[in-house]
Amino acid sequence: MEKKNIDWGSLGFNYIATDKRYVSNFKNGAWDEGALIDDPTITMTECAGVLQYSQSVFEGLKAYTTEDGSIVCFRPDLNASRMADSARRLEMPPFPEDRFVEAVKQVVAANEAWVPPYGSGATLYIRPFMFGSDAVIGVKPATEYQFRILVTPVGPYFKGGAKPISIKIADYDRAAPRGTGHIKAGLNYAMSLHAIVEAHKQGFAENLYPDSATRTKVEETGGANIIFIKGNKFVTVGSPTILPSITRRSLEYVAEKYLGLEVEERDVPLTELPEFDEAGLCGTAAVISPVGKITNGDQEICFPSGMEKMGPTIQKLYDTLTGIQMGRIEAPEGWICKIK
Ligand SMILES: *Cc1c(COP(=O)(O)O)cnc(C)c1O
Repeated sequence: MEKKNIDWGSLGFNYIATDKRYVSNFKNGAWDEGALIDDPTITMTECAGVLQYSQSVFEGLKAYTTEDGSIVCFRPDLNASRMADSARRLEMPPFPEDRFVEAVKQVVAANEAWVPPYGSGATLYIRPFMFGSDAVIGVKPATEYQFRILVTPVGPYFKGGAKPISIKIADYDRAAPRGTGHIKAGLNYAMSLHAIVEAHKQGFAENLYPDSATRTKVEETGGANIIFIKGNKFVTVGSPTILPSITRRSLEYVAEKYLGLEVEERDVPLTELPEFDEAGLCGTAAVISPVGKITNGDQEICFPSGMEKMGPTIQKLYDTLTGIQMGRIEAPEGWICKIK
């Protein structure tokens, strides 16, 4: 198999249509057998549930080449179960979890030529998604759905080292109590766009949302969970209105079992922010982005780790988790899913 002629290291985070995508349709109460297809476009009724009432959910994971030349992805079973949870919350039929993992493997294998080589820093981003596809005008769930997986090669997240970012406490709310903050749905992103455009204009890389009910506790950013280091403690946010990040859950395990840190998943009051030594945002795309500064109104919280490089403990977490993913460090049972 010959790889595509791409300068992997200079790729950004942009969509490039690859050779194959996986599609399965839900109709008359059942998913069809699914297939790999060539057509990157979708034709559907102008009145589709997704177009009128945003009935859609998605996932994000990556495939990459490990040190020994295998093509693998990381914990796709957790993406499968999270997508099923997201679907149920929006009254969509969950795509069977075992078939989800099979479909991920099939579509990556079919696009093997697009999987970046080991050491390039680039990866194949995998985007499973699902949407209501038949006509809906009165407000109700669609009766037909499409489950689809596209893959696209993306460049190294940090070009020239991971510089800490500066973020702000958001002026807006993200997730209502008992709302949809815990599911991966496009609707949570649509309403974050105005807030992120404004934050960027003000010179901040991200919005850190406080809890909507009291605005006194830290939740997460628009697309990543937040983690903190305080001495020997690894502190994460325990809240029913944040998205359960697979990266964060994996880091909790790594912190405890590989690095011997004490793990706390709990409420994090905004008033505690100045007490932390290090902070970072975590998600599939970057694994961890270090945070150097958080601005809350006219208060600036600068972490002792500074604005030049990752703090030492977050660096260890990053090196250990990426080492596990790339096959340089032994992985816990079931974390690495071999495709080829
Ligand atoms: C996808 C996402 C994350 C990160 O989750 P991972 O499973 O680690 O990629 C965090 N927060 C939100 C809101 C998300 O949509």
